[in-house]
Amino acid sequence: MKCQFCANPKTRVVDSRPGRENNHIRRRRHCPSCDRRFTTFERLDENFPLVVKRDGRLEPFDREKMLTAVRNSCAKLPVAERHLNRLVGLIETRVQQSRQRKLESQALGDLVAAALLDLHPAAYIRYSMVHRQIQDLQGLKQLLEEGFR
Ligand SMILES: [Zn+2]
Repeated sequence: MKCQFCANPKTRVVDSRPGRENNHIRRRRHCPSCDRRFTTFERLDENFPLVVKRDGRLEPFDREKMLTAVRNSCAKLPVAERHLNRLVGLIETRVQQSRQRKLESQALGDLVAAALLDLHPAAYIRYSMVHRQIQDLQGLKQLLEEGFR
């Protein structure tokens, strides 16, 4: 985002917080060139549902966050980056086409897990361990029984 005072193209986000009713994000930016600060507002794309977190908080659908989680699950596995991008793209499209206003993060995670199972079984296991907060062997055993029926 360009600086509104000196037009320097590189400004830094120093703070961001959701606005009232979660329909926009307010970002505080700093320009290292003229050392001034200004605020921008980002509207959420209304084609995307809000994600309902486990604790009930609402969050905008975050493609980058999903890609990072998927990438971590595939670390050191023979899965190409383009497959990860494609996977996230497919889920993004599905979410958008669902036309729902809200989506449980649990349901979203299940979609990701199912897609990862097609890419690599170890990626599915890694992702699900985190997503379902599996802490012990019993939980892992149950996951394996469900995933690989
Ligand atoms: Zn500036």
